[in-house]
Order: sequence, then C-alpha cells, then structure tokens
Amino acid sequence: MSTSRMAGLALVAALAAAISGGAAAKPHRPPSPAPPPPADPAVVAAALRDKALDDSTAYGVVESLTTEVGQRLAGTPAAARAKDWALAKLTALGFSNVHAEPFAITAWIRGAESAEVTAPYPQTLVIIGLGASPPTPPEGIEAEIALFHSYADLLAAPPGSLTGKIAVVTQPMTRTQDGAGYGAATRFRRRGPVEAARRGAVAYLVRSISTSTSRSPHTGKVDYVADIPKIPAAALGVADAELLDRMVARGKPVRIRLALASTETPGAPAWNVSGDIVGSEKPDEAIVIGGHLDSWDPGQGAIDDATGVAITTAAAKLIGDLPRHPRRTIRVVMFGSEEMDYSGRSYADAHKADAARLVALSESDSGPGPIWNLQLPRGAAAATALKPLASLLAPLKVILADQPAQFAGADFGELQLEAGVPVFSFTPDTSLYFDVHHSADDTLDKVGRSDLNQSVAAWAALIYLLADSDVDLRALAKASPAAAPRP
Ligand code: ZN
Ligand code: ZN
Repeated sequence: MSTSRMAGLALVAALAAAISGGAAAKPHRPPSPAPPPPADPAVVAAALRDKALDDSTAYGVVESLTTEVGQRLAGTPAAARAKDWALAKLTALGFSNVHAEPFAITAWIRGAESAEVTAPYPQTLVIIGLGASPPTPPEGIEAEIALFHSYADLLAAPPGSLTGKIAVVTQPMTRTQDGAGYGAATRFRRRGPVEAARRGAVAYLVRSISTSTSRSPHTGKVDYVADIPKIPAAALGVADAELLDRMVARGKPVRIRLALASTETPGAPAWNVSGDIVGSEKPDEAIVIGGHLDSWDPGQGAIDDATGVAITTAAAKLIGDLPRHPRRTIRVVMFGSEEMDYSGRSYADAHKADAARLVALSESDSGPGPIWNLQLPRGAAAATALKPLASLLAPLKVILADQPAQFAGADFGELQLEAGVPVFSFTPDTSLYFDVHHSADDTLDKVGRSDLNQSVAAWAALIYLLADSDVDLRALAKASPAAAPRP
C-alpha cells in the first residue's frame, strides 16, 4: 500500500528538518512556515488509490441509475430519462461543462415474443429477440429446424441447404478471465443470421451467448448486411438449446414456431452526456474516459454498463475533489447507444476537430471488476511520469501488460482508428460477467462494492498520473513502433 512509501517520504522529510534545524538551531526562534513543496504526483496518486478503496461514489452511481432509471434501451423514453439522470448526476458530483450531445438513431423496440416446438415433442421454449431483428408475420414462422452444434458447422453448410428452414446454432460459450470466450462466441449471434440467410434459412435461433446455466436468455445485436435478406433472429435459453440438442438426437424432424413483433423508428433521439474535471494548466488537453449509459432491456443494465459509467465517474470525481486539479482535463462521457452501435460513430463525427488535443481514450465496459491487467498506450511504459504505476498498482493485484493496448472500447473505436488518439485498456476479471450480461439477471445485486472500488482505485491512479503530466503519448508511440518487452 501507499503507507510504506508515504512513511518513507515522511521519514526523509523529518530527518531533513531535524538536520537543518540542528545546524541552524537558534534558541527561542519561532518556526517560519515554509511553502508546501509541489506534491509528488505518485504520492497524490497513491492517496487517491487508497481513498477510492473506501469511497461510496461508484456504488452510489450504480445504485442510483439502476433504481431511478433501470433499463434504458436507446430510443425508448427510459433512455431520455437516463440522459436527464446523467446531466443531474455529473452536476451534483462537481463536474464542469456538463452537457448532452444529441444524435439520431434507428430505435429498435421489442414487442411480444414467443417460440415453441410444435413437433415431435411439443414444448414452449424460452427465447429473447435479438437487436435489429425484423418481426415475423403476426402468426409467426413455423418450419423444420436445421441444428448445428458448432458455428463452424453452419459455415460449412452449402448454399441453399437451409432453404425454408429455421437454422439453430447451439455451440456453448467458453468461460475465460479476459473475455476471449465472448470474443469467440459473439459472432454466433452477430453474424449467424446473415450466414443462415445466405444458405436459405427463414429464421435463426442461437444458444444464448452465456456462461451461465440459467434459463434467462441473453440478447444482443445482429449485424445484418445490405445484400442478404434480414431474417428474424432470437436467442434460446441455455436449457432450451440443450433441449433441442436432445430432441434432434432422437432422429425425427423437429419443427418450431417463432413469433417476434419488434418495431423500428428511424430518426429517434439519443445523447452522449459529457462532463469535465477541468485541468489547472492545460485545460484544452483532455484524457477522455467513460462508459455507456444505454443498456439492453430485460435487466437493469447494472454490470453492462452502469458499472463502467460509475467506475470512470467516481475516479474522475475523486480527482476533482483534490485541492488542486491536475494539469490536464479529465473528461467523462456517458455514451447513449453502444448496444446498437451508434454512439461511437456519432462521437467521432462530433469530435474530429478536437481529436489532436485528446491525450488518451479508454472506456470501461466489461463489468465491475476486479481489474487484473492494464495495457498502456504503445510506448508509454517508457514515460518517466508513468514509472510509478507498477508499484501503485501492485497492491491492487493489477499486472502491467507487456503488450500495448489495441482497443479503447466500442464507443471510442472510430475516434481511435480515424484520428489516431492513443488508448489504454484495463481488463477486469470477466469470469462471471457473461453469466448475466444482456439478460434479465443483469441487476444491482451482481455488483460487489469492493471489486468496484478496486477498479476505481486503478483508474484514478493512472488517469491522475496522465493528467498531471505533460507526457506526449503520440511521440512515445512513434518512438516505439514495435512492442518491446519491458525490463
Ligand atoms: Zn456494454
Ligand atoms: Zn452490452
């Protein structure tokens, strides 16, 4: 912890005072107060880290958003209430320049949904429609299924082989600490409907992209493409996918009826909400962090992504409470349409002109932690200002990765790629995250205060060091074209 370092510094100061006092000792001379030396950024960062571990701001933000707003699917009245909540919250926490940046989306709104096996073993199935899915006809679609135990098997099916059928993929997701299991499985949901339609399918069902055995299905968006028919798509509860595996194993054709009644509204309003801790010397240079304010509709959007909003807001707020702000600005953005893939594009378009003055970007969007890994911008490990990081993060059990960050999060993707703004990335332990992500079980009770605060502590330490320095991350990246192992 910081205590040993601070104790060491205090000892040095006391010894120096004793030595100089001893050398210049004059009886009865009153002590003259010396001006305080400039604070060592590493000492301030350590104090911030320790304060964060015991702070209630982050949990309070998650509790407030999930209780006072709840689910906030972009394009719904709840998303407008979330925008008002965000403006009020950032203002109450002492941020400056608090404002909403509007943009337009095509709102996708869920309607009534149902599915059942009609033959040979009639049973109701638990499903949830996927984002951007078109509706079925009101009476639903009934067809024989073609079931694939892996996504690779679907891709291996020849063109035309699924004509008139409902394609079903039941490949389970792998549980991992770093989110790689989701990276591998998310394409079953995002791209499966297009691949099934290419082969003639009339609808698509996927086993929930989930590491849980809960029957609650997990939603998420589909990436339809212009030249392939958009077929209705839904996720099956894990137990329901396994039920279909067993039915198909019995060798008789299985028929399913699927009914979805979603609607789409082009031109619906959405907002990115922004607030600043204004820098004391270089206010135009900003470290931009945040999470996404929108959520999927079945749960409360607690772990996805009230916690990301809360971690970044709380870290910035703790820094804002210091008697002297760091030299550069810290900007928190709460993005209004991450789940449907709109807010990254809109943010990049709105901030092209400021991009050169942005120091670094990072979004928190993988749950409440604990964080176990930090990837710095390319070349940044060489910066003197960031040297204290390894010891600052050690008591939090956060590793400084050898490899530089590749990705700042979905909402910074376009800005990162198009404007070349440096990025950093904290990796939380996602072992349990995908048990509830995008499902009705994404609720406040899944958020642990100590893991959340550990995340705030790591964020606060890093962004304080970045903000109180003049480190030029672009120059460091140029000087370090290839990843070099640290000593
Ligand atoms: Zn998210
Ligand atoms: Zn999500």
